Amino acid sequence: MFWLHFTLRRFIKFHLKNGCRILNIDLKKLSFVKGFLDEEEAQRLFDLTLVSSRLAPCLEIGSYCGKSAVFLGTACRENNAVLFSVDHHTGSEEQQPGQEYFDPDLLDEKTGKIDTLRLFRKTINDFNLDKTVVPVIGRSEIIGRVWQTPLGLLFIDGSHAYESVLNDYEIWARHILPGGYLVFHDIFPDPAHGGQAPYLVYKQAVSSGQYDVLPLFKSLGALKKKN
Ligand code: MG
Repeated sequence: MFWLHFTLRRFIKFHLKNGCRILNIDLKKLSFVKGFLDEEEAQRLFDLTLVSSRLAPCLEIGSYCGKSAVFLGTACRENNAVLFSVDHHTGSEEQQPGQEYFDPDLLDEKTGKIDTLRLFRKTINDFNLDKTVVPVIGRSEIIGRVWQTPLGLLFIDGSHAYESVLNDYEIWARHILPGGYLVFHDIFPDPAHGGQAPYLVYKQAVSSGQYDVLPLFKSLGALKKKN
């Protein structure tokens, strides 16, 4: 009896830890989706969203080609919740032609501009998230000015210019419900590991006193809104 209990506990622990396998996210298929999200960070986002999407819809800023939306969206789908994914889909500063993260596959030859919406739509369709993930197309600071819906989780991963991250935090974080999460991507306390803008804004959120601070998880900085 003890053995059975022990085995069962190990089974449940393993499957909780590997929740996306239970939920059938095809990681091989996902490996073909362009994006900058590490698999363990994706799993962590999934876990946070699974809890917070019970409170209210979730929202990410910075859809790109949909990699993070697969994890956030699959967790939302579990709770019949909705993920809003905000992006103007014309690429951020460093993704423009001639810049460090330029990807010629994303260039619309007719307009000469970056267009990530086509691949984002394909990803959402490929992972059966059409009824869960709502693309919101436009600049986050403009949409944020008129936004009214309370949020269970806000994931900030849009433009990494300081002014943009600060705007995203100041405009959007007020919509997070008590008990909900504010999550920043690309938090690097050591400047040798990456740009400092998200980290500076993250520190500002921490010092606001409005959040309980969770330990950093790789480059994810998660804060839980106090009651
Ligand atoms: Mg990022």
